Amino acid sequence: MIRKIGVLTSGGDAPGMNAAIRAVVRSGIQHGLEVYGIYDGYKGMYEGKIERLFRKSVSDKIRLGGTFLGTARLPEFANEEIRAVAIENLHEYGIDAVVTIGGDGTYHGAWALERMGIKCIGLPGTIDNDIGGTDFTIGFDTALTTVVEAVDKLRDTSSSHRRCSIIEVMGRNCGAIAIWTGISVGAEYVACREIGYNEEDIIQTIRDASKTKRHAIVIITENLTNVEKLAETITTSTPFEARATVLGHVQRGGSPTPRDRVLAATLGVRAVEELVNGNSGVAICEVNNQIVAVPFETALKSKKDQVFEKYETFKVLW
Ligand code: ATP
Repeated sequence: MIRKIGVLTSGGDAPGMNAAIRAVVRSGIQHGLEVYGIYDGYKGMYEGKIERLFRKSVSDKIRLGGTFLGTARLPEFANEEIRAVAIENLHEYGIDAVVTIGGDGTYHGAWALERMGIKCIGLPGTIDNDIGGTDFTIGFDTALTTVVEAVDKLRDTSSSHRRCSIIEVMGRNCGAIAIWTGISVGAEYVACREIGYNEEDIIQTIRDASKTKRHAIVIITENLTNVEKLAETITTSTPFEARATVLGHVQRGGSPTPRDRVLAATLGVRAVEELVNGNSGVAICEVNNQIVAVPFETALKSKKDQVFEKYETFKVLW
C-alpha cells in the first residue's frame, strides 16, 4: 500500500506543469497520501532536494506558467549508480512512488526507476507535442496560442509593408507547433523535419504568392536552416522584402490556456488513482478524448502521424 508519493517536473518547462503538480498534490491528499515535491527534476532527486507539500503549497499555482518545483537536465541519470543514490534519498523520506511530468527523456528516467523498484507514473508535459501514446501534451495548446498571437501581429505589419515574414518556431524533432500554426494563421509555407526543407520550393511559393498577395508567411522549425540567410535569399530572389523572426523562449512561457489546465488536472488526478489502485510503469495519456494508462515502453515506441495528417489539410488551404 502506497502512503507517500513524490512529484517532479523534468526536461524543458511547459505551461500547465504547475496545474499538473497541483492536481497530484490535492488528489493525493484527498486519497490520504503524503505528497512530497522533488525540486529540479531528477537532479533534485539525486541531491535530496525534497520537501513535503500541503494543500496550501499549491494555492494560486494553477494559472502560473513554468514550474514552481523547477526543472533541470541530468544526463547522468542514465547511470544506475546515480539512480541508486536518488532512490536512497526517496527511501529516506519513505517515498514509495513518484509522478514525473516531462517529455520522453523524463519517461526514460521514470521507466529506469520503475525497473529499480520505485513505482512511477509519467505525465506528458512538453510544448512540442512530440510524445507518443497521447494525442496532446500539457503545454502544447498554450505554446501554440502564443505563437499564433505573435504571427498574427507579424502578419499585420508584413502586409502593410508588402513583406515576407519568416518565423522560426520551436520543435526540434516535431513540427506540430509549426503545422498547427501554419493552418491557424493561413501561412504560405511550413517547413519542419517531417515534411522536409526545400529552399527552391519556398522561393517558388513566395514568387507565386507575390503575384496576388501583399504578404507571405513562412513558418520554419528551429535547426532546419539559418532563417536570416533565408530572408536574404528571398529578398534577392522574389519581389518581397523578407524579415526573419526567431520566437525563441517566449514560446515556453505564459499562463496556461484553459485547455492545458484541464488536461493537466485530468491527467494528474488519474495518475494518483492509478497509484492508489496499485498500477505503475505507465504514462497517463489522452487518446480520442479518453484518459488511458499506456505502458512506458509502448508510449516511447509509438509514433505520431498528426503532423502529416495536418499537413494534408494545410496543403489544401494555403
Ligand atoms: P523535453 O521534451 O522538454 O526536452 P524531456 O523530458 O525529453 O523534455 P530530457 O532532457 O531528454 O527532456 O530528459 C529529462 C531528464 O530525464 C534528463 O535530464 C535525465 O535526467 C532523464 N533521462 C533522460 N533519458 C534518460 C535515460 N535513458 N535513462 C534515465 N534517465 C534519463
